[in-house]
Amino acid sequence: MCTPRPVRSTDNVTNLAQTPLSDRLRALIDTVQHNERTLRRFQDVELHLIGAQDFRSFLDTLFTRLPREFTLTSVLLWLDDRAPMLHELLSPEAPYRPASHQLKTARQIGEAGAQLCKEGRPWLGKARDMGETARNAFFEGQTPAASAIVLPLTSGDRAMGYLCLGSDNAGRFAEGMATDILERFATIVNASLDNVAHRERLKQLGMTDALTGLANRRYFDERLREETTRAARYALPVACLFIDIDGFKQINDAYGHPMGDRALVHVAACVRQQVRLGDTLARYGGEEFAALLQGDLKDAMVVAERVRQAVSKLELFDESGTRIDLTVSIGVSARTSKRRDDPSTLGETLIDEADRAMYLAKRNGRNRVRALPGDAPDAL
Ligand code: GH3
Ligand code: MG
Ligand code: MG
Repeated sequence: MCTPRPVRSTDNVTNLAQTPLSDRLRALIDTVQHNERTLRRFQDVELHLIGAQDFRSFLDTLFTRLPREFTLTSVLLWLDDRAPMLHELLSPEAPYRPASHQLKTARQIGEAGAQLCKEGRPWLGKARDMGETARNAFFEGQTPAASAIVLPLTSGDRAMGYLCLGSDNAGRFAEGMATDILERFATIVNASLDNVAHRERLKQLGMTDALTGLANRRYFDERLREETTRAARYALPVACLFIDIDGFKQINDAYGHPMGDRALVHVAACVRQQVRLGDTLARYGGEEFAALLQGDLKDAMVVAERVRQAVSKLELFDESGTRIDLTVSIGVSARTSKRRDDPSTLGETLIDEADRAMYLAKRNGRNRVRALPGDAPDAL
């Protein structure tokens, strides 16, 4: 069962009140443990969705891993044909096209979803209670599931999509069940879909680094201009991290260039996990990465330290099983721009200061985070 059990439903409380305390405690502990296990399995699927580099792995997680993990008989994703990501997903150049019963765009499904999900709330229950039109729309050409949940994927006030999960167990999805974990899951599906569409678009525009899958310097420079313009307009803080792998030439020399490439891929994935989905991260040069964060110097120092520690814990082994030590030196810079500041100068300053701070980290012994002396926040 993937549906979390409510810890305090009215029925439970009445029944529990008549049972001895130890039994009641056991029942509560069982429920909490069951919910914890469910949550962990969801988190695992969610991490795969968030980390998806392309549509193929996104859809594979949604249509193969999700039903396998949670013994679902069907997973259907409906997307409004106005949803921007749909164009990427269905474009003739798309490297992967999902099966037609999994990804749908028919208008009737959107209408049926809107009917079922009043006020953006999920609908769940027996498929036969969906109503004939909705059931035909959602399960066209397929055997309808015994029970199902329909989760809206919203953007602003509008549902840009619906995710319908079906089970052959008629009691699996029933009215009154807690849906918070599944609603959170829908939010993550939505955000990851946007993210992966964005990635695919970057690839088409030649703004991606082929080895690491990160954005490249061309993209970073463009985003830097946009972000500094926005920061200047609204007087927002913006920060930059310049991340350089320590002694990388030696890794190439000792283990060979292909292992050096593997190390780059590992470091890139590790750094990506430590920054927010909305932050810009790029491979700036050979073994150098740059990140653009929304926040002040203090926030950025925290992120940088997190990145440094995560990279130092990476487990990369050579063919004989020897662990390859990987560390990074990180320079941090930040500015809160004034309206009259020139955004292009602000961008150049951020990069230049982060680069100089990175060299300071190298001079101070590597595997550390530094800001330029005048910049360092008091607390750090
Ligand atoms: P430091 O700690 O001072 O940063 O030393 P370092 O050895 O990391 O720096 P250096 O600039 O001397 O060397 C960087 C190396 O990165 C040299 C270059 O061959 C290697 N490199 C750059 N791009 C790639 C790549 O795509 N793949 C591999 N395997 N190596 C690369
Ligand atoms: Mg370098
Ligand atoms: Mg280096």
